[in-house]
Amino acid sequence: MSRIHLLSPRLANQIAAGEVVERPASVIKEILENSLDAGANKVDVEVEQGGVKLMRIRDNGSGIEKNDLSLALSRHATSKIRALEDLEAVGSLGFRGEALASISSVSRLSLTSRQAEQDNAWQVQTEGRDMEAILEPAAHPEGTTVEVKDLFFNTPARRKFLKTEKTEFRHLDEVVKRLALSRFDVAFQLRHNGKVIHQLRQADSEIEQERRVASICGSAFIDNALKVDVAAEASGLRLWGWVGLPTFSRSQADLQYFFVNGRMIRDRVVTHAVRQAYADVLYHGRFPAYVLYLELDPALVDVNVHPTKHEVRFRESRLVHDFLFRTLHRMIADMRPQDQLPSSAESQSGQNSSELGLQSPAVATEQNYEQGRMAFRQNAPSGPSVGQTAGFAGANYASSNPSIHQVREQVSGYGALHPDQNAEAASDVQGHESDKCPPMGYAIAQLHGVYILAENEQGLIVVDMHAAHERIVYERMKQSFEEDVVRSQPLLVPLSLAVSDREADCSEEQSQTFKRLGFELARMGEETLVVRQVPVSLAKGNIEQLIRDVLADMLVYGESKRIEQHINELLATMACHGAVRANRQLTLPEMNALLRDMENTERSGQCNHGRPTWSQMSMSDLDKLFMRGQ
Ligand code: ADP
Ligand code: MG
Repeated sequence: MSRIHLLSPRLANQIAAGEVVERPASVIKEILENSLDAGANKVDVEVEQGGVKLMRIRDNGSGIEKNDLSLALSRHATSKIRALEDLEAVGSLGFRGEALASISSVSRLSLTSRQAEQDNAWQVQTEGRDMEAILEPAAHPEGTTVEVKDLFFNTPARRKFLKTEKTEFRHLDEVVKRLALSRFDVAFQLRHNGKVIHQLRQADSEIEQERRVASICGSAFIDNALKVDVAAEASGLRLWGWVGLPTFSRSQADLQYFFVNGRMIRDRVVTHAVRQAYADVLYHGRFPAYVLYLELDPALVDVNVHPTKHEVRFRESRLVHDFLFRTLHRMIADMRPQDQLPSSAESQSGQNSSELGLQSPAVATEQNYEQGRMAFRQNAPSGPSVGQTAGFAGANYASSNPSIHQVREQVSGYGALHPDQNAEAASDVQGHESDKCPPMGYAIAQLHGVYILAENEQGLIVVDMHAAHERIVYERMKQSFEEDVVRSQPLLVPLSLAVSDREADCSEEQSQTFKRLGFELARMGEETLVVRQVPVSLAKGNIEQLIRDVLADMLVYGESKRIEQHINELLATMACHGAVRANRQLTLPEMNALLRDMENTERSGQCNHGRPTWSQMSMSDLDKLFMRGQ
């Protein structure tokens, strides 16, 4: 007797549903994507009991023709592709023709639709083992409504995996938010148990778009984010969106939205590039916040690598990595205090004021930075000393080495750095009533030897003088380090490394990169490398580990910034020791010189450890504290 038989269509669909339909949120994702693919510019979502009891999605898209209705519910039925070639440059969100079949096999589904040219609407429902569809006339405006009731009613094993109503709704809401961020030109409404959760109108202008981002990601995000829009003409890549200031970091990676050609994805090449762009400015263990859109030729991305299409594969991942890193890195480096300060007109209207009255990147961070800061202050020696660098946590590969201390000449107490600027600043102070006030204003006092108080157009600025000076010194050291050729020294005993042949190939391909950074590497066999020369500054570090990590990065991400990072860590340590200490009295001209340097230094909004260096209290914030004008 034959033991092999064909599965019924319903069972086959239920099995397939395992991949796409995990919970109400996945149903919403599939159905909303269909609405967007149908060209809708308005979608209403209504759910009950976290979506488990009911999900109703109505759109004003192109609708489905009567004869296509039952087909829409069958497996492998789609209007979006016809041939394999179409897949290579697919522009729609869906194309697998599985979603409706899967969803209808594990719920009570009805699909009602009307196309513009039809006199009335039609509705289809599926019932019974073989999923024959029942077709009936119905009343419905142009567009489509999908109603999904009692999810998993016939698959108890799956129903058991559902979480509480609240949790299921949270997932579902997240899906709606992502889709709402992916299409500003579409109006979205979400209601849960009769209550309106989101009511988002079409957002065409930049202001409307920012309003939508604020209502989805919180207004603190948009207040602490900068707009990006950069296109690389040669490669046809464009990156736009909003990146959070480094000081608006999160304890989790929960505010990271990345869209590739309108599709929200998670991708390690992307995550890595972004993390690296923030590397030098983010407080340890914190995550940047961003809403970013990458647009590129669809032929350069493969979206068919995952059933729910959460992942993509870039055909030129190195190009993408490089573009993202460069764009964001530059952007972050170029952030200046003046970009973050509201214009005086804005601050007067009190638009950005927060509860506590502090308006600056510092406000938005939930983290208490005090700990790290105190540690630096209290253990700080009074001046730079060579031996101090060695034990610094974080500089694993680095060690102290006299050669690098040549840059030390640049590190000294503040006043000594800029004799001429001081003179200028001093005269500025006298004449500043008439001149335009610089963004960081003019110093008025030093508080407890730790903070500089300054007056600017908006009100009061408070600067952590050590943190600010540390960044300035660090950026200068990095710059002079880059301008100098990296000095390298031969190893007394060349270091031999056993590697895989892929790693060995990679080291050969990247030999120029290694050379530029002061390494001399040669391949001695299929799987052996020998290191003959290393940068002087890293000579005492764990070279073997560093080379291995760098090769691993290069294989996965196409490049590695580890060597630079370790050199930077070493410089950062030195900068920390070289920066002005607490309890050192500064004169007003010295303080003003520091403020002017902050305006002109890359990344000056954060110290080398990612903590904020300054904070603004606007006049309206102060007025609020004293209830003036209320
Ligand atoms: P896919 O989206 O992968 O094509 P689905 O099972 O999600 O597969 O949908 C099947 C087909 O039903 C789609 O290709 C589309 O033609 C049609 N369809 C589904 N939802 C809608 C809608 N809201 N508006 C218009 N057509 C729709
Ligand atoms: Mg679909």
